[in-house]
Amino acid sequence: MGKGHPMIFRQLFEPSSSTYTYLLACERSREAVLIDPVIETVERDLAVLDELGLTLKYTLETHIHADHVTGAARLRERTGSKAAVPEKSNADHADVAVVEGTPLSFGDLQLEPLHTPGHTDDHHCYLLRGADGLRVFTGDALMIDGCGRTDFQNGDAATLYRSVHEKIFTLGDETLVYPGHDYQQRQVSSVGQEKARNPRLGGGKTLEEFVAIMSGLNLPRPKKIDLAVPANRRCGEVQSV
Ligand code: FE
Repeated sequence: MGKGHPMIFRQLFEPSSSTYTYLLACERSREAVLIDPVIETVERDLAVLDELGLTLKYTLETHIHADHVTGAARLRERTGSKAAVPEKSNADHADVAVVEGTPLSFGDLQLEPLHTPGHTDDHHCYLLRGADGLRVFTGDALMIDGCGRTDFQNGDAATLYRSVHEKIFTLGDETLVYPGHDYQQRQVSSVGQEKARNPRLGGGKTLEEFVAIMSGLNLPRPKKIDLAVPANRRCGEVQSV
């Protein structure tokens, strides 16, 4: 905190899966990372990197996604970036095994992985301590007025409740929350706002209340799960999309 390293930041959107991809870069070294890139928007991401004069150092996955295929492998082919994937994902062809306690550095900036299982068992959030405060990229652990489902990929509602309360809600109310998806194109929230008004996890909801909400959702099976999960276990190596 307080070091004041200038940062470049873009929140990018992929509409078919309503996924947010985050571009973060060190202004001095021009090194960049992309959190949760999507295969459909690889060309868009490359154009943004080029326009800003950045070198892509890492692609970072929050987890093995079931609803879209990562752009990691294609971005690696095109830029030489390294695919950073949670160690617990057991992904083939990953370059960096992400674990809590081992920050990822790019130029003067660092992202700290926080193991936040519950949506999936491999899920990690990424915390950035900036001069202007904390930002946490919450993937599908915590979304604006919502959270990821917990009914497949070793998901578990009680585990997600503990992850959010112990790893995210403890960060301080001013911490900005950037979710992995938003289906209404809301862009950013804060820990304080989600603690106060998230209908599943906030407002003092107990673990038992949260488990009951999650077990009553009866969500349909994601359309792309049979394509996306195996492809994402290979960092997004697919023949065609
Ligand atoms: Fe997910």
